[in-house]
Amino acid sequence: MSISLSLIYLAATIAFIIGLKKMGHPATAKNGNLIAAAGMALAIAGTIFIHDLQVPTSIYILIGMAILIGSAIGGWMAIKVKMTKMPELVSLFNGFGGASAALIGLVEFSRGGGDKMITTTIVSGIIIGAITFSGSLIAWGKLNGSVKSVIKIPYHNTVNNLFLVGIIAFAFFIVTAGASNEVLAFGLLAGGLIYGILFVLPIGGADMPVVISLLNSLTGIAAAITGILYSNMVMLIGGILVGSAGIILTVAMCKGMNRTLGAVIFGTFGATDSVAGTNKTLGTIKKTNPSDSAIMLNYATNVIIVPGYGLAVAQAQHIIHELEELLTKKGVNVKYAIHPVAGRMPGHMNVLLAESNVDYSLLLEMEDINPQFKNTDVVLVVGANDVVNPAAHNDPSSPIYGMPILDVENAKHIIVNKRTMKAGYAGIENELFYNDKTVMLFGDAKDALTSLVSELKNM
Ligand code: NDP
Repeated sequence: MSISLSLIYLAATIAFIIGLKKMGHPATAKNGNLIAAAGMALAIAGTIFIHDLQVPTSIYILIGMAILIGSAIGGWMAIKVKMTKMPELVSLFNGFGGASAALIGLVEFSRGGGDKMITTTIVSGIIIGAITFSGSLIAWGKLNGSVKSVIKIPYHNTVNNLFLVGIIAFAFFIVTAGASNEVLAFGLLAGGLIYGILFVLPIGGADMPVVISLLNSLTGIAAAITGILYSNMVMLIGGILVGSAGIILTVAMCKGMNRTLGAVIFGTFGATDSVAGTNKTLGTIKKTNPSDSAIMLNYATNVIIVPGYGLAVAQAQHIIHELEELLTKKGVNVKYAIHPVAGRMPGHMNVLLAESNVDYSLLLEMEDINPQFKNTDVVLVVGANDVVNPAAHNDPSSPIYGMPILDVENAKHIIVNKRTMKAGYAGIENELFYNDKTVMLFGDAKDALTSLVSELKNM
């Protein structure tokens, strides 16, 4: 490899690392993304123009067309996507990453030529790439509702594990026998594709973001394997970065939900429909209206806003910011309490509120804000449910028992905005709604907050 190409790869690698680091904070995340993307563009351009590809001009034309078409479709999808649909898009992109790795494996299969190391790399790329591709497509389908309900396969964990062992044994045979018949490679591909479907299909629809994060890390591993195959450092390092970041994210999400990765993969949490709202033992709820809520907020000294998934669904991030600014002008101390898994993807609330230019210093993480609830006059919960459910502390039989939550019930008054008494992601009742200190402000978050803002303006 020429020195200039090595330098380009080095620059691209540094861009990936700086980009990833900057993505750790909402204020720098956008730049981080651009820097990492620039690094990727550099690596691709270097590979095409400086690497001695030894291919005819027609191949360059094909590569150019693929880049143009891919960039146009990818760019259009990324611009069009709604924030709540982001996990779906990530899932699709993961799937394509996996498909690329599997296709490269297929193309290179005959290159193994009896070399055990190279063949191991190739078959690993085929298997992991195929699993990632079909698994990601199923995850995408479940998230957008086109793949319906959880399919119950008897003993599905045992069946899945045996199937995976079978694929690995088959791959082991190919490597040790030095087999190079391409039919075997297609057999492996089919095995990986079927396993990907079996792996993701039984998982509860609402657990998909965790699975997507896991599949994302598999895509990284598949890319790293391809990097080894081509002795391409930038591909190897890029793959390792994606693989490790995906694993860290998966673990962080499981921790935020107080669940083990095993429970996510082998359980069906969140897969059932809720019967919340029909509970008779918790008592009655108290309804309120925008006018009374506005009075409570207007005369408060300290207010904490708790945003949740419903805020994202209603696209109410701009109006909540307007409410916060209005209250601040009136001398009220307003802060936002950010739960690590509020919403449907990590950092969902941060990204949403950043979009409406909420000052980052007002966003407080769970550990920092929890001690402050007891000195808070009014908590305004907007479209959040599980992340404020006291059952996580009080009810050992609850599926969310042990999950860290925002201690909203310690505040003096609580206003909860949601549309109905339906449950959230976990599909369970929330005793907070029946608390003496709680009033329910029913309605779509955007509509309710708009009414609240106009009431406040008239005070
Ligand atoms: P929840 O899903 O628990 O609750 C959201 C609430 O918003 C619902 O009860 C719903 O009630 C309400 N809502 C929906 N649409 C609107 C609307 N238009 N206006 C007003 N309210 C609305 O969300 P949380 O954010 O509290 O908790 C997130 C959950 O997701 C956690 O259980 C977490 O573990 C899980 N999760 C999070 C991931 C992450 O990475 N962030 C990943 C995977 C899962 P109603 O229908 O009555 O309006």
